[in-house]
Amino acid sequence: MEIKKIMVIGAGQMGSGIAQVCATAGYEVILNDLKVEFVERGLGTIQKNLARQVSKERITQEKLDDILNHLTASADLQDASNVDLVIEAAVENMDIKAKIFAQLDEIAPAHAILASNTSSLPITEIAAVTKRPEKVIGMHFMNPVPVMKLVEIIRGLATADEVYQEIESITKKIGKVPVEVNDFPGFVANRILLPMINEAVYALYEGVATKEAIDEVMKLGMNHPMGPLTLADFIGLDTCLYIMETLQEGLGDDKYRPCPLLRKYVKAGWLGKKTGRGFYVYE
Ligand code: NAD
Repeated sequence: MEIKKIMVIGAGQMGSGIAQVCATAGYEVILNDLKVEFVERGLGTIQKNLARQVSKERITQEKLDDILNHLTASADLQDASNVDLVIEAAVENMDIKAKIFAQLDEIAPAHAILASNTSSLPITEIAAVTKRPEKVIGMHFMNPVPVMKLVEIIRGLATADEVYQEIESITKKIGKVPVEVNDFPGFVANRILLPMINEAVYALYEGVATKEAIDEVMKLGMNHPMGPLTLADFIGLDTCLYIMETLQEGLGDDKYRPCPLLRKYVKAGWLGKKTGRGFYVYE
């Protein structure tokens, strides 16, 4: 069965990026969020990204118009009733994702594949709320989606081989590189990345160095393109906290305990670049 129509749920930084790359590859994309204004914000980001591409002569104005024509806004999950694939990129919270997948299972056609862009939550558990666990899979994009090549594809316990192959093929069609991963907390990327970020927050918390110094050490010393605290701001500190909690709970090991400073920032609403303030301040 050929996949033509995709719904992306969540028009935040990941969902809008996923919608952009799918529409660029020629898929019909419905971008869904809780409110129309959230979707419009996501579409605005896409438009800005594409306009930058036009000004750099990487794409033509006609291509920009064509991509935007492949995107439709939605604030109603019922719009999933005629899609072939759903990619969920709502917030990193099991209760919210479980609710979305249970509803999707009722709404989406029987053939539709339900994918989650979760950073760390078990695909098997998300799949278990549906009556089609063989059609549920993880599609973990990296941030920023239009730039980063990797998609970790996570097989849940029941994910069917044909579903895996279909998702692998779509990942290639949208210009990304799939890497197969099994369903364990944090998968591969965040199992390794997030403890490093959390340790950087501990280093700041314990006064080992300033935020700038910590970032500079990792940039110059380890050749990382950005320091871990800057990266945390880009990921979103709420997402970082959710992932650390998932690792701690899922792997049952306190070595993954989130740094109290990370919790404090999240409680303050300092979520990073998306709220204008995290470890750094953004205009
Ligand atoms: P975000 O906060 O930028 O966006 C989340 C969006 O989901 C918001 O617009 C919110 O209104 C919407 N939303 C919440 N509940 C919803 C619902 N019930 N229905 C529809 N929309 C809903 O978050 P993000 O950074 O885009 O992260 C989204 C997902 O992608 C999370 O699961 C996260 O773990 C994962 N992810 C994030 C990154 C990253 O670097 N930020 C990387 C890979 C994966």
